[in-house]
Formats: sequence, structure tokens, C-alpha cells
Amino acid sequence: MTKNPLVDLHGRPHTYLRISLTERCNLRCTYCMPAEGVQLSPKDHIMKTHEILDIARTFVDLGVTKIRLTGGEPLVRKNIDTILRQLAQLPVELSLTTNAVLLDRYLPLLKELGIRNLNISLDHLDRERFHKITLRDDYEKVISNILTAEQDEFFTVKVNAVLIQGTNDDEVNAFVRWTKELNLHVRFIEFMPFDGNNWDLSKLVSYEDILQKIHSEWSSDAILRIEDRPNDTSRNYKIKGYKGTFAIISTVTRPFCSTCNRIRLTANGKVKNCLFSGSETDLLTPLRNGQDLQPIIRQTILDKHAVRGGLDDKQFKDPGEHHNRSMILIGG
Ligand code: SAM
Ligand code: SF4
Repeated sequence: MTKNPLVDLHGRPHTYLRISLTERCNLRCTYCMPAEGVQLSPKDHIMKTHEILDIARTFVDLGVTKIRLTGGEPLVRKNIDTILRQLAQLPVELSLTTNAVLLDRYLPLLKELGIRNLNISLDHLDRERFHKITLRDDYEKVISNILTAEQDEFFTVKVNAVLIQGTNDDEVNAFVRWTKELNLHVRFIEFMPFDGNNWDLSKLVSYEDILQKIHSEWSSDAILRIEDRPNDTSRNYKIKGYKGTFAIISTVTRPFCSTCNRIRLTANGKVKNCLFSGSETDLLTPLRNGQDLQPIIRQTILDKHAVRGGLDDKQFKDPGEHHNRSMILIGG
């Protein structure tokens, strides 16, 4: 147990680190990757394997107990096997967020290393729509990899669907129906504003909208609310008798900042103390200079705002006035 954990000025202990392993991706989801692409960091500005491990160890010394790997697409990182093997040695719950295109190659290794929790992005249950949002033809591969992981009781599979008005808002109930026979946890995510993703409020499918759609097919008696765990960002439900569950992540209409325990580390070694924070703290340069990272990390956590990176509702919903990285360069 760490003597002096990372508690911010709002009393929130920070025990969950998300590490982005790469800025690259094999899909081009339009809500994440700007149409014009992103300016990639020069190769020597990206954390090397031993640097990821050094920084992760520092966080573990500061009380981090959960690490989730993300990207870009973490499975496109060349030496992902080595990174997974090394991080799996740390005393943390290690998990992965992936688009599942390459997942079949890595399922045996993930199992060997005890990495059970997989979050998989899938926004459409239709091949052509999948192509339209990802600009790639990997629908069959992704579906087959989700089903393979679901069939293996070792894995807990969450399916993340970002809902966008006029794009997939009419697929909510199809996703819920999917949970009838499959032990999947579908999570509907409100579309969030980031640089280059053409967000505007009219494209939002809100928490209320989602529940309304579900109530149009199932009676109130059949829709069961499941108790949320501490620090859950989702409000969890299931349909009576169904194998799987569904949940809503409502960052826009019902933020859950009061229980936030998350810290994000970008692939080029910057810490973001909030997904929406406009500022970031460089850890990679001090690490390369042999400096002690602990005081730098502590200060970054102390600088964390109470709600959504210090943006008020108007600033948050008017992204023209606020700049953040594109999501592909943060990692979710
Ligand atoms: N490539 C991996 C994947 O797609 O799962 C990991 C990285 S991706 C940036 C992490 C998560 O962020 C995905 O679940 C994705 O759907 C979500 N995401 C990306 N852009 C988003 C946005 N504008 N609003 C809400 N969620 C977003
Ligand atoms: Fe790639 Fe994931 Fe972003 Fe889609 S959501 S472009 S899969 S990083």
C-alpha cells in the first residue's frame, strides 16, 4: 500500500492510468481521427518500451492499481508483445482497449498474461455502415474476433459504441438485442468534442434519448438497473433474462467527474490529468534527463480541475473556443 497516494485537491485518489502506446491506427473512425489526418510525433518523441515501463513503475509506486493500454490502436505497435509481457509483471490489473482488427493474433498471449478485460470499439452492426465510419473493410474480422473473445469465458468483453445522431442512433436496440444470447457488455458512449471531429450538440444522442429508445422496445419491468461500481463512468442496465448487459457513458449530459480516478499518458510521454484538459505535462523529457518524476506527477494531479478540465458547460459545448488533442492522440 502506498503511503502517500495521488489525491487531488478535490479529495479524489488517482489509481487508474491509461497509457496510449501509439498515435497510429489501422482504422479511421471519423469521430476520432480528423479527415485531414493528424500530425504524428517524430519517432524519437514516442516513448520506447523501457520508458513506458519506467513511467508505469513510477505510477505504481504512487498507488496506481489499474493500467489500461490504448492508442491509436495499441495492437499495431510493433513490439506490443514485449510491452504486454513487461507490464504484466507489475502489480496492477492490466487491460486493453482495441478496435479488435488484430485481436485474434493476440488472444492467446493476453490469456497467458492474465489480461481479461477487453474493451472493443464497434459502432455499427452493419457492414456498409461500419465501412462508412471506419473507412476500412474490417467488419467481418472485428465481428468474428468479438465473438471469439466472447466465447472464451476467460475474457470480459465490453463493446464501446459511440452514438451519433443520423449515423447509428437507430441501432441502439439492435445492440441491446445482441446481449440476449451473448455475454457482452455494450456501452453506449455520448459523442464527445475533440479537435478535428466536427462535433456539435445536434449530433449528440443523449443519455435520455438512449433510454427512450430502449423503453420503446422493452417494458420498464424488463429493464433492470444494475448497481454501478465505485469510479464507474457508466450507468449500467440489463434486460431481464438476457445474458449480457448494456450501459450508458454520458460525459456530455451527465458528467461523472466527482468520482474520477483517471490519469492519461499519451504516446509521446505527456500526462493529461483530465480527458478535456487543454494543458499537459511532459514526463518523457524529464525521464530522459534523469529527473525524479514523482514530484512532477504529484503537481499535475494537484492542478486537476474539479469538472471537465475546468471548462464550464458553455465552453464545453462550444468547442470552437477550446482546443484539445484529437481523440486518436489521447487514447480515450
Ligand atoms: N483504437 C482503440 C479503440 O478504438 O478501441 C483504442 C483507442 S480509441 C481512441 C478509445 C475509445 O475512444 C474508443 O472506444 C472510441 O470509440 C472512443 N472515442 C473516440 N473518439 C470519441 C469521441 N469523439 N467521443 C466519444 N468516444 C470516442
Ligand atoms: Fe482508431 Fe480507435 Fe480512433 Fe477508431 S476509435 S480511429 S479504431 S483509435
